[in-house]
Amino acid sequence: MRPHAPETAPGRWEGVEERPYREEEGAHFRDVRRQLLFGEETGLPCELRYFEVGPGGHSALERHAHPHAVMVLRGMGRALVGESVFAVAPHDLVRVPPWTWHQFRAGAEAPLGFLCLVARERDRPVRPGPEELAELRRKPEVAEFIRT
Ligand code: MN
Repeated sequence: MRPHAPETAPGRWEGVEERPYREEEGAHFRDVRRQLLFGEETGLPCELRYFEVGPGGHSALERHAHPHAVMVLRGMGRALVGESVFAVAPHDLVRVPPWTWHQFRAGAEAPLGFLCLVARERDRPVRPGPEELAELRRKPEVAEFIRT
């Protein structure tokens, strides 16, 4: 690996390819691109990914045992973590603890791009079942926010 991978366009880097966000197709996410910026070649026990959610798009509503450490790089949007819905902007930090519901939504005008640090060895995300969705929707701002 070369030591330097310059940014070639906003949110694009030399030698870094785009990967499918999820293996499965579905309506539970919309217009999300994923790039692995730093993977196993580093020898570190973590991976740094860059996600870009297109205007009006959203990531999957999910939770899992592994935490996420997120820094927003570009655009504007909103996020759900647990029962909190909040606006996010470039350079904001978002902390997703283990087993906490989370979802990211881009605003209507611009993509939302963010870095996400995870453990290299991690469990698979799970999506809410009907009872968990009903529980989440008890809070009006969460009900308004989530896309499934
Ligand atoms: Mn996740």
